[in-house]
Amino acid sequence: MKEIILLKLGEIVLKGLNRKNFEDTLLRTVRRRLAKIGEFRVRAAQSTVYVEPMNDDADMDEAAECVSRIFGVAAFARACTAEKDLEKIKTAAAEYLADTLEGIKTFKVEAKRSDKKFPYNSPEICNEVGGYLLEKFPDLTVNVHEPDVIVTVEIRDFGAYIRAGLIRGAGGIPVGTGGKACVLISGGIDSPVAAYMMAKRGLELMAVHFASPPYTSERAEEKVVELLKKVARYSGRLKMYTVPFTKIQTEIRDKCKEDYFTLIMRRFMMEIAERLAVDKGAQALITGESLGQVASQTVGAIGCTDAVCGMPVFRPLIGMDKEEIIEISRKIDTFDISIQPYEDCCTVFTPRHPRTKPVLEKVIEEQNKIDSAPLIEEAVMNVKVRDIL
Ligand code: ATP
Ligand code: MG
Repeated sequence: MKEIILLKLGEIVLKGLNRKNFEDTLLRTVRRRLAKIGEFRVRAAQSTVYVEPMNDDADMDEAAECVSRIFGVAAFARACTAEKDLEKIKTAAAEYLADTLEGIKTFKVEAKRSDKKFPYNSPEICNEVGGYLLEKFPDLTVNVHEPDVIVTVEIRDFGAYIRAGLIRGAGGIPVGTGGKACVLISGGIDSPVAAYMMAKRGLELMAVHFASPPYTSERAEEKVVELLKKVARYSGRLKMYTVPFTKIQTEIRDKCKEDYFTLIMRRFMMEIAERLAVDKGAQALITGESLGQVASQTVGAIGCTDAVCGMPVFRPLIGMDKEEIIEISRKIDTFDISIQPYEDCCTVFTPRHPRTKPVLEKVIEEQNKIDSAPLIEEAVMNVKVRDIL
């Protein structure tokens, strides 16, 4: 008996003319991600992607976990295949679902017959398979309203498939169908979540991290690498650009008024990130800001940082509470890494009384005490690139 994984496509089914592009991107992603696990055949038909192992020792647990993190998959299920022959379908169902059916009390059978040439209609399939399972598992009863398990028999072009239930997939739309964006990533809780959320909307990612050695350590940078590896399980591979930021920060400290430190620093970050984004073909920036969370995240402060930047800045966490953000960070397994206590360049030279209602002209006036252009040039020249797989 052969087991496969069926992926049900989500929103991408609705995308009209773009559908082919979405589906192709999804297939490519599924193939690429599964290639690390084993040899699989991946093909699509009728809004379903079929993932078939090409040999017996394929790790189906790992494959199922892998597809659970692929955006564009609304739901998935492991299923067994059978020939399109009612007797074979019945025995396959009893054998494949034995463990599941022995552990429950009630079930019902649903049939989906997309191959209309199959000689039995859906109610007949349900009756036949349901009757057979009742015989084989005498402790079971049928409950059509609230069954413990729904056994689904799908009669499709390539064969018949039997499964128990569907598991919710990662949702969203396939990475790469929405263009590319650059996430400003710190070691905190928020920015990895923001990156995950935008990848879910189909954006390919690149990441920029600002480091200020010796105020920030090698270990703090490694922490960001670890975070991005977790994000990459959803977004796919990406590049991380580490920008040396010490000189800019010390310049700000030495030349600008203390209450503007953070704002000016953030404007430098945005400007440099945008430079790198343009250079690498990204069309937007992503940050982990949430309105009112800290002084630099008030409406006024965000206005002042945005003003330096020509491309759209996506802030998917802007309306979320910390608790909601933490919930997602636990789900994507970044939380425990984020809370490790390493310093971030944002916490170096933090002003005692940051401006919460800054006036843009004043910020620019302060920032103009620094000769920005050569500093930015130097920082961009010395960027370090890493591949995150
Ligand atoms: P996070 O939890 O993501 O660190 P935060 O709540 O600590 O966010 P800030 O420290 O004010 O907030 O940073 C706001 C945003 O600025 C971050 O979400 C991130 O996008 C960006 N950012 C902060 N520090 C860095 C850094 N060292 N490198 C790159 N981006 C950064
Ligand atoms: Mg932070």
